[in-house]
Amino acid sequence: MTKRKGLVIAMDGPAGVGKSTVGGLVAKSLGYKFINTGEMYRALTWKGLEVGVDLEDQAAVVELAKKIDWEFKPIEEGGSTLKTFIDGVAVTSQIREEKVSINSSLVAANPGVRKFLSKLQRELGEGGSIVMEGRDITTNVFPDADVKIYLDASPEERADRRYRQLKAAGQEADRDKILAAILKRDLNDLKREINPLKQAEDAFVIDSTKLTLHEVADKILRRIRKGAKTPSHAR
Ligand code: C5P
Repeated sequence: MTKRKGLVIAMDGPAGVGKSTVGGLVAKSLGYKFINTGEMYRALTWKGLEVGVDLEDQAAVVELAKKIDWEFKPIEEGGSTLKTFIDGVAVTSQIREEKVSINSSLVAANPGVRKFLSKLQRELGEGGSIVMEGRDITTNVFPDADVKIYLDASPEERADRRYRQLKAAGQEADRDKILAAILKRDLNDLKREINPLKQAEDAFVIDSTKLTLHEVADKILRRIRKGAKTPSHAR
């Protein structure tokens, strides 16, 4: 195993809970790199749809994943967030399309894909000085992470946050539809056979329902600075 230069900070939680915002803030404050692993599942889904691979054909999707040239680097020089580039293209906006969101849970349930992407994620993080977020980072990718965070918030609060975000961006939004989509994604994440979303026993559980994302990041940073590695619940 490579010797770690800094901490591996692993963070999991359901969709729309603010993991990326919080993870980005924590990474920036520590001078670490940040990576959102959901982007990798989304990027593969997007590529599969682009080239017309049947996403139900598990072997074909794994083969596609292996053929892709994966790169993770900041968009702007010196940035702390590593974005996913596939075959030289930063797929930041296209992977947020609705069709990608809908199909990504199928790709994420593919055991061969999970094995392949988990290995990539370990390679990216094993040197340390990284904040990595997803659904199985604390339980599967880095069960030996130095710090494990499980970020939670009620589905209603997550739907409200998304609703406010869309409205602020001048977009149409229907709160009931957003809530229904969040509940569906939760179900997909929790019932997945391989690497489902679950709280690691030794994770700090932070319920962000009544906190701002800056407050959550501060809470995490305080814990890290205290050097806490023992199981504790921050609720
Ligand atoms: O977080 P996000 O919604 O962008 O994730 C995209 C897809 O990848 C979702 O279906 C999610 O369940 C899946 N995912 C996963 N394991 C991770 C990160 C995301 O299965 N570590």
